Amino acid sequence: MKNSLFHLGMEWELCDGMTEERYDPVERAKEVAEIVCRGDLRKYYRFRPARFYGGIVTSDCVGCCLGCLFCWSWHQVVAPEQYGRFYSPREVAGSLTGIARRKRFRQVRISGNEPTLSREHLIKVLDLIPENVLFILETNGILIGHDRTYAEDLARYENIYVRVSFKGCSGEEFSLLTGATSQGFDLQMSALENLYRAGVRVHPAVMVSFSSQDNIRSLRSRLGSINRTFADIEVEELVLYGDVEDQLKKAKLTYGAAYTPSCIPPEQI
Ligand code: SF4
Repeated sequence: MKNSLFHLGMEWELCDGMTEERYDPVERAKEVAEIVCRGDLRKYYRFRPARFYGGIVTSDCVGCCLGCLFCWSWHQVVAPEQYGRFYSPREVAGSLTGIARRKRFRQVRISGNEPTLSREHLIKVLDLIPENVLFILETNGILIGHDRTYAEDLARYENIYVRVSFKGCSGEEFSLLTGATSQGFDLQMSALENLYRAGVRVHPAVMVSFSSQDNIRSLRSRLGSINRTFADIEVEELVLYGDVEDQLKKAKLTYGAAYTPSCIPPEQI
């Protein structure tokens, strides 16, 4: 049985073994943007206070250029047309700062799916976030790696901190976990490099639950060659939200450390 990951003309067979066909994540970003971005508007499905980072206001956007098998917001990734509604940058910044005021939080973020799909929207949101509020950008880095000027645009904001989330420790793992071409992993590396060179505060987080110790070591050394501190990665481990376990079973992917949502270790919150 075939399970279509995206309704965008590209199919990735999950149940009967993966096909050789892989998608280009930059092309995928353009296709998904046609669905979830309209001028400077972007689709979102939720605004909420969250416990991560010691308390952070979170807006969950819709649409991503990857299809990670461990994704906790999978439904929005595979069917972006079915979720959320369009919000202006002013509405998003207003909701984020309004909740932050009520909850007395000093940090906000866009999460859910991939925040960078609409550069125009993201930059306008950043323009509206007060300087004394920290904006944490959680990204897969694909578009920032593809275009150095994206990192340069982000470098204009002193209150931004970027977390680039690597999908595995090598091109091969990246491709296995996301269904995208392995070059996407190089784009993730380039994102970290572009952000660092542009002077943006940034660090790498790495999903390690599917990786051998050798691969983790070798990625640390590759990251450390950009900047020594990057070798000290933020470890991301699998959390078995919703359908994640079933999806991994169907894809016959085995994993090491994994947690249920109620038992995430404190250092990963
Ligand atoms: S990059 Fe993030 S939002 Fe996109 S599919 Fe992967 S885990 Fe989900």
